[in-house]
Amino acid sequence: MRIPTIGLEIHVELKTKTKMFCGCLNDTNECHPNVNVCPICLGHPGTLPVANKEAILSVIKLGLALGGKVAEDSHFDRKSYFYPDLPKAYQISQYEEPLVLGGMLKDIRIRRIHLEEDTGRLLHNDDNNNDNDDNKKNGHGHRHSQKSTLVDFNRAGVPLMELVTEPDIKNAEEAVAFAKELQLILRYLNISEADMEHGQMRVEANISLSGNAGMGTKVEVKNINSFKAVFGAIKYELERQAEVLKEGGKIHQETRGWDDKKNKTVSQRSKESAHDYRYFPEPDLPPLDLREWDLEKLKNELPELPEAKRHRFVQEFGFGLDQAGLLVEDRSAADYFENAASELKEVSPKTNYQTLFNYFTSDLKGIMNDKKTAITDIKITPEHLAHLVSLIEKGELSSRLAKDTMQKMFETGESPETLMKANGIKMVSGENELNWLIDEILAQNQDAVADYKKGKIQALQFLFGQAMALSKGQADPTKLRVFLEEKLK
Ligand code: ZN
Ligand code: MN
Repeated sequence: MRIPTIGLEIHVELKTKTKMFCGCLNDTNECHPNVNVCPICLGHPGTLPVANKEAILSVIKLGLALGGKVAEDSHFDRKSYFYPDLPKAYQISQYEEPLVLGGMLKDIRIRRIHLEEDTGRLLHNDDNNNDNDDNKKNGHGHRHSQKSTLVDFNRAGVPLMELVTEPDIKNAEEAVAFAKELQLILRYLNISEADMEHGQMRVEANISLSGNAGMGTKVEVKNINSFKAVFGAIKYELERQAEVLKEGGKIHQETRGWDDKKNKTVSQRSKESAHDYRYFPEPDLPPLDLREWDLEKLKNELPELPEAKRHRFVQEFGFGLDQAGLLVEDRSAADYFENAASELKEVSPKTNYQTLFNYFTSDLKGIMNDKKTAITDIKITPEHLAHLVSLIEKGELSSRLAKDTMQKMFETGESPETLMKANGIKMVSGENELNWLIDEILAQNQDAVADYKKGKIQALQFLFGQAMALSKGQADPTKLRVFLEEKLK
């Protein structure tokens, strides 16, 4: 039996106002290259870095949220390596004294969380046009290919947090669940958007299979840029290693990259060419004394975290964990729902919140997606949504009228009561009114009535639709159907 051992290293860009060691803007949306740069983040000689307190505070908050131990003493180290996206030829990072040690998330132990700076971005240009590419492929090309690389240093020096887990993860599913929950916590703490597609959260996985011979050989997989890739890379690598070992082969300690298109990991470099980073304490920055932060106070100020919120929603609203999970996926949406629920309890005390849940997660979300509007920007207040649901629960609005009314609420921001009054919306549910409607329709559609009596079931739906239309969509659909079937017997 071989046991998978997986640890993750996750880099996260923090959304501070300014960069890690200078006053340049930290703006991920800046599309003009080399705008947010200065002598410090470009690594000019003679400049001095100053550590960004907002970034340090962000990591402390995450450390507290995960139950880690915030260091009293910490310092930055130089990590030396050469690469064109790194202007100083070293990265200021943390080696011996990370900001946070320990902690736990989803039963996975956290080893450490430290702070460092991001690199610039390289843009590889290839000025061959497609014709030349074809020539090259056919072996007829004579022109040398003209390749060049552009460097954008807007990202150089952006605060980058690195979180390392203990190798407690057993499979791809656990790794994805861990990464997703971390992303959600980062968003709840408002310290990063942690969008993987935009490189704001980058995952690396250390994967090995231990067996009879003890610990297995560790393979590091990089270039994992989506949750789908986290899953694919780990699953592939576990299968690859198992296969190699089964054939009697040896796993080489190496770095591999995930190829999204080929759906496999490919070898990038072996252990022999591994870097020696020559870490040493950064001489240009004073050591950090974290005793200045009131950790007790910071801990009390943390928002309710997703896991706690899920369990509270299960308790308070009687939802299953999956329903609660859906609401908690977005903090603003969870707050909105909670406000609507508390108003609903006032106006419809017997509610079980299911109708509210359905209208919120399906109808309202549907309109929001159609109109590309965020929950924080919609005109419908949580109170008005609660009133709409209470009208449905009291039987004063059919689902069809509710949907129309919600659409108008979305456009105008008016309450459902105001809109119903202004538009003459009132559900027709009285027996006399409904029977009058039915008599009218039956008299007008003798053929359909005859068809139905001959056994043509579809005629019933036609008559129902006609009656509904005559009521301008305001008939109580359930009662209308019952009375109609009764009449046709
Ligand atoms: Zn700068
Ligand atoms: Mn790092």
